[in-house]
Amino acid sequence: MKSGEYIIGYDVGGTKIGIGLASRDGKLIGHDRIENKDTHSDDILPQLVSSAKKLVKEANLKMEDLAAFGISAPFPADAVNGILTAPTNNKKWRNVPIKKYLMDNLGIDGHFENDANCGALAEWFFGAGRGCTDFIYLTMSTGIGGGIVAAGKLVRGKLFNAGEIGHTVVELNGRQCNCGMKGCYEAYAGGRAIAMRLQEELKDQPDHPIVKFAGGKLEDIDMVALEKAVRINDPYALKIWDEMSLRNAQAFGMLLNIFNPQRLILGTLAWAVGDLYVDPIKKYLPQFAWKENVECCEIVPSELRRDIGYYAGPAAAINYLNEKEAAIRL
Ligand SMILES: [Zn+2]
Repeated sequence: MKSGEYIIGYDVGGTKIGIGLASRDGKLIGHDRIENKDTHSDDILPQLVSSAKKLVKEANLKMEDLAAFGISAPFPADAVNGILTAPTNNKKWRNVPIKKYLMDNLGIDGHFENDANCGALAEWFFGAGRGCTDFIYLTMSTGIGGGIVAAGKLVRGKLFNAGEIGHTVVELNGRQCNCGMKGCYEAYAGGRAIAMRLQEELKDQPDHPIVKFAGGKLEDIDMVALEKAVRINDPYALKIWDEMSLRNAQAFGMLLNIFNPQRLILGTLAWAVGDLYVDPIKKYLPQFAWKENVECCEIVPSELRRDIGYYAGPAAAINYLNEKEAAIRL
């Protein structure tokens, strides 16, 4: 591979930063991680640079071989200027100009992108989205984030807010969501929202199987405890699971009829739980989308799974370079 056909990327999470060195044709050739819980950016930024240099050296490359860096960033952020303004997962990082810092210290161009979009890009270049022109990636974790690729392009929207699928309203005057609105899809199917609901509804039932699966502690009730109760056919757990599946199908149906994707790629819960998660959604989907759009779309779990953080940053860099080259061709 020629000089300039490698990229480096960073996934800035609340507990760790994943760093990946990759080739532009979709191979991860080195990775590293930096612990990032309760850190100050002044301590971490220099480590981002030294880690990149270490990975480049270990791969027998030179810094000149890198074409760009990518940053997969938590929002809210100033995407245009590449500033982490107020990440909710790290209270001590405020107005950190991470893009400029890396440009100055790595000596290469770079790009800053919403982390849910980077998840989609990672699957596009390295995982279950390879070769697709139209697909949607959904995080399906404590919250529900998403990234949309339509007609071979990442959809960002005017304010870089496109893909906030978890905050489409699926119920009029419905459940209160973290975002301030009522009735958001995430308030019905996000892992955190479901756990909060279970904790509230089971507070007077210490002997309930879900509470027992959470080690007897109400505050430890999570999706794992719920899944275990579903697998033993507990009626209440089955009811909650069914409601969740119906809401997932409702949201997916909207996506299918709006974007007509060839694939929906699902993160965490889909690969952690498996068929028990995906099959009921498929059962309900025909209620919410046209038959041909349902038949056209494969629902698959993420290929990159828990390693997606190593791919997210490099994927942002690859997409940046691709978009830049396409703009030059126009
Ligand atoms: Zn919301």
